[in-house]
Amino acid sequence: MASPATRPDQNADFFASFQLMERYLERLSDLQNVQDRREFFQKVMAVLAPVIDPCCHQVHVWDEESSAWRLFDDGAEGFALPGVSHEGVLWALDRTQYNLVPEPDPRPELRCYVVLPFVVRDRPTAVLVAGTPFAHDQLPLVVSKLIAHFSRQVESVFENLELYGKIQQLRNLFDNIIESVPHALLAMSTSGRVLAMNTNAEFMFDVKSIFALDENFKAVFSPAVAEVFTGLMVKALSGESLIDYEFEHSLDGKVSITIGISTSLLQNRNDKPIGVLFLCRDLSLSREVTKLRELDQLKTEFVNTVSHELKTPLTAIIGGVEILQADAATLGGDQVEIVGVIAEGARRLQTLISDLLDLSKLQSGTVQLKEGVFALADLVREALAVQKRSDKHAIKLEVQKDLPGVVVDGQKILQVLTNLVSNAIKYSPAGGAVVIRCRLDGEWVRVEVQDQGLGIRKEDLGKIWEKFYRVDSSLSSEIEGTGLGLTIVKHIVELHGGKIWAESEHGKGSTFIFLLPLRVGLANER
Ligand code: ADP
Repeated sequence: MASPATRPDQNADFFASFQLMERYLERLSDLQNVQDRREFFQKVMAVLAPVIDPCCHQVHVWDEESSAWRLFDDGAEGFALPGVSHEGVLWALDRTQYNLVPEPDPRPELRCYVVLPFVVRDRPTAVLVAGTPFAHDQLPLVVSKLIAHFSRQVESVFENLELYGKIQQLRNLFDNIIESVPHALLAMSTSGRVLAMNTNAEFMFDVKSIFALDENFKAVFSPAVAEVFTGLMVKALSGESLIDYEFEHSLDGKVSITIGISTSLLQNRNDKPIGVLFLCRDLSLSREVTKLRELDQLKTEFVNTVSHELKTPLTAIIGGVEILQADAATLGGDQVEIVGVIAEGARRLQTLISDLLDLSKLQSGTVQLKEGVFALADLVREALAVQKRSDKHAIKLEVQKDLPGVVVDGQKILQVLTNLVSNAIKYSPAGGAVVIRCRLDGEWVRVEVQDQGLGIRKEDLGKIWEKFYRVDSSLSSEIEGTGLGLTIVKHIVELHGGKIWAESEHGKGSTFIFLLPLRVGLANER
C-alpha cells in the first residue's frame, strides 16, 4: 500500500527502479568469470541492456601493433555512428569516465550514445558505444547512477582480463621459444621442482611433461639422470655454470648416446637464484658429422697428394711416348699401336688428374678469381678453337650486338665454355648444330650452349652436376669422360656469383644455360 506521502506513480517508479537495480546486480556478478574480450563485451551488454535499452552498439579497441583504434568484431550488428567517428570516440574518452553523445538525427529508439571507456594502467584500451532511446540531457537518475556505478565496477574486471591476456601471450611466446630450441631444455626450481621442459626433453629422458611439471625431478627422472642433475644443480647454485658436461645416457635402455649438458642459473629481479636451466645436446650426432667431415677432408687431401705425385711421372711418360711417336718409323707395326694405346691412356689420366686437382682447389674455397674485362665472344671463339672439329657439327655463334664486356676471371670462364662446348660436341655423336648464344638477360649476362645430341633424361638432369656422375646409357657410356667437368663448371659459375642449369629433351638435345651477374666492363662486343 502506498503511504500518504507518496503518489501511486512514484511507487511504480520506485518499484521499476528497484527491479532494474535487481536485474543489473544479478547480471553484474556474472562478469567475474570472463575468459576473453568477446565474452566480456557480451556480458557487459547483457548488464547494460536493462539499464539503457540499447538499440545498437559498437566496441572500439586500441590496436598496439598498428597504434590505432579498430572496430572490435564481437558479433554485434554493425551500424554507422553519425558524428561518433574514431576521433569522436577519443574526444568522448578524453572528457570524463563515461559520456553521452547526442545523435544528430534523433529517432524514438536512438537519441544518444553512451560512450564507455575501458582503461588499463591509465591508458584507454577499449570503448563501448551504445545507442539508447534516452535523450542525453534527460537521462533518468537511476540510469545515470547505474552507468556510473557500472563504469567503476567494470574497470578492474577489464584490467584484470587484459593483464591475464598479456600473461597468456607471454606464456605462449615462452612456450614457442623453448619448443623452437633444437635441444632438450629443462628448468628446475632451487628446490628441484620441474618448472618447464620442451618436447625434446620429453623424448631424450622419456618423461611426459604433464607428469613432470611441478613435481620434484628426482621423482620423475631415472635414478641415473636424477643423479647427474643433482650434481649439476649443486654446482650451478654455487655459481659454477657448466658447458657441455658429458654423460652417457641410454635411450629406452637400448641405444646409448652422449649428452652434453650446459647449465645456467635462473635469477629473479633481485638477482636471487630461483632455479637452474639445463640445455642438453645429443653430442653423438655432431660427433658423427665431425668424423664424416674429417674423413672427407682426409679423402680430399689423399686425392690431392696422389694426383700431385702422379703428375710428374705422367709428364715423363707422355714426353717419352711423344718422342717414340715422333720416331714412329723406327717402330714395328705392333709397337706403333701399343705406343698409341699408351699415349691415349696417359692423356686420359692427365685429364682426370687435372680435373681432380681443379676440383679440389675449387672445393677448398681458397681460389681467388683473377678478374679482368673480357669480351664474351672472344672467350667463346677461343673455346671453339681448341675443340676437335668434325664436319658432322655445324657450330654457330650468336652474340647480342653491343653486349658489354664482362668482368670475370677469363681463364676460368674459358674453362666453362670449353667444357660445355666439348660436351655439346661429344654428346652429339650423330652430329647436328651446336649453337652458342650470348645476350643480356635483365641484371645478368646469359650464355646458352645448345646441341641436338643425345639429350638427358629428366631424372638425370639434377644429378649431372654431382662429382663423378655420368649418365648410365649405352650411348653415352661409350663416350670418354671423367664425370667431373660439370661439377667444376658449376663451381666456377657460382664462384662468379652466377647460376647454371640444363634443359633437355631426351633424344633431341640439350641446352646448358649459365648467367653471370652483369658487371659492365669497358670493352664492348664486336
Ligand atoms: P663427362 O666428363 O662425363 O663429360 P661431365 O661432368 O661434363 O662429365 O658431364 C656429366 C654427364 O652429363 C656426362 O657423363 C653426360 O652423361 C651428361 N652430359 C653432359 N653434357 C651433356 C650434353 N651436352 N648432352 C648430353 N649429356 C650430357
